[in-house]
Formats: sequence, structure tokens, C-alpha cells
Amino acid sequence: MPSSALLLPASDERVLAALEAAYGRFDARSAAWLEKYQRGGGYVHCGKGCAACCNFPVQVSLAEGLLVAQSLEPDQLEAMRAHAFKVMRNARGATEWNAYLRSHRVHVGFCPLLNRETGACTAYAVRPTRCRDTYSTLDAHYCTAGVVETLGREERAWYARTVRENPVTDGVSHYIAPLEDLSADVATAVSVAMRAAWGVELWGDFWVLTSLAADEAFMNAVRAGHVARAVKRAKSLGLWHPEIVRFE
Ligand code: SF4
Repeated sequence: MPSSALLLPASDERVLAALEAAYGRFDARSAAWLEKYQRGGGYVHCGKGCAACCNFPVQVSLAEGLLVAQSLEPDQLEAMRAHAFKVMRNARGATEWNAYLRSHRVHVGFCPLLNRETGACTAYAVRPTRCRDTYSTLDAHYCTAGVVETLGREERAWYARTVRENPVTDGVSHYIAPLEDLSADVATAVSVAMRAAWGVELWGDFWVLTSLAADEAFMNAVRAGHVARAVKRAKSLGLWHPEIVRFE
């Protein structure tokens, strides 16, 4: 157990148990899917050391943030908080989702849990769902921020045709769509678990929710199902934005 981890109440433990069971199911199903896909000649670029997508915004549940927060050392939590403040600044300046997305990749930048020298995730065992279900059918060059948006005319036509003709994409981007569909089970499981344990569901940005999950006063408000108190605490920490922290 890392030095920053606190003993959790039983309600939190139930949420984490549901999440870890759902991750186990997803990891087994996605491994089987990928094995069959690759046996049939399908191409997946992703592997250890490739991290071109680790500067995308990542949406999570509070359950996922709590699992990560429990596994981090104090210096990693501090880095997550610093990143969360950059997310907040980006959100406050954004006018719409695409602008937020582009700006996140450039101005907020890479996840602090990424080891930039090795390209490895330092929280791989507890990484959130989105980091588990994102797989590329093309070289990492096409995952790099700004590349697809600025392709020349010929390459843009090639990219559009390649993606459209590949039955495992959604026809628009080069990521594998069925794996994203498979992970819906994780979202359902944690939704049910959060509601049963806390009476509320909380979704939003990965770095912000992980930072809030590490804050005892915030978590106590959530555990009491006290949304107004949780919002007040998030505001006092400078980590509140209605699009970034969403109670449901
Ligand atoms: S948690 Fe790991 S896989 Fe996910 S964005 Fe951060 S470094 Fe990348």
C-alpha cells in the first residue's frame, strides 16, 4: 500500500471491488477479442513504450479516480493535482468540446503518470477504463496531437478511405470501436456500485477526480450523498467546473 493511501470505509471498498471485478472481465474479454483479431490478420499498433495518446482528455468515474488515488505516492498525487489545475484552466477558457480537446492535448499535455523516458504508464495496473480500451489500427504517428487534423490532401483521402474500409473502426477515426463497446460493462458496473454505496454518481476528468478522491473532506461529503457540500469543497480546492465534475 502506498504511503498516501488511507484506510477506506466499507462503502468505498464495495465500489472498488465492483470496479476491479469489472476491469477483470473487461481485460479478459478484450484480450480474447484482440487475440482473435490478430490471428485473423488484424493490426494493432499499441504496446509498451507507445504513449502518443496519453495527452488526450480522459473521462472517468469517481470510482476509477479513487482506485488510482489509493495507489499513488504523495509526489504522484501532487503531480496529479498540478495537472488537474491545468485541466481547470483549459476548461474555463474553452468555448466548445473540440476546442477543449485540441487545447488539452497541446496546453495541458501528457498525463503525469506517464514515464516520458520509457513511454510506460506508472499506474498501469489501475489505469482507467479509457486507457484500457483505446487501441490504434494505425501507427502512433496518427495518434499524435495535430497530425490527423493537418494531413495533406492526398494523405487525408488515404486516411479517410483506410478508416472507412476497416470494419473494426467507427468509420471516422482509426481506433478500434468494439473494444470501446466492450468497456460499457465497466461503466454500468461502477454506476450501479456508486449509486448503491454513496447514493450519487460522479463522473468527469481523470486528473481532477483523482485529486478529489484523495481529499478526505470531499470524499466524506460524497459518502454522505451530500452533493452541495461536495461541490463547496471542490470549489474551495479550486477543482470545480460543472463540465469537469458531474454529479448524476
Ligand atoms: S493513466 Fe497511464 S495510460 Fe492513462 S493517460 Fe496516464 S500514463 Fe497514459
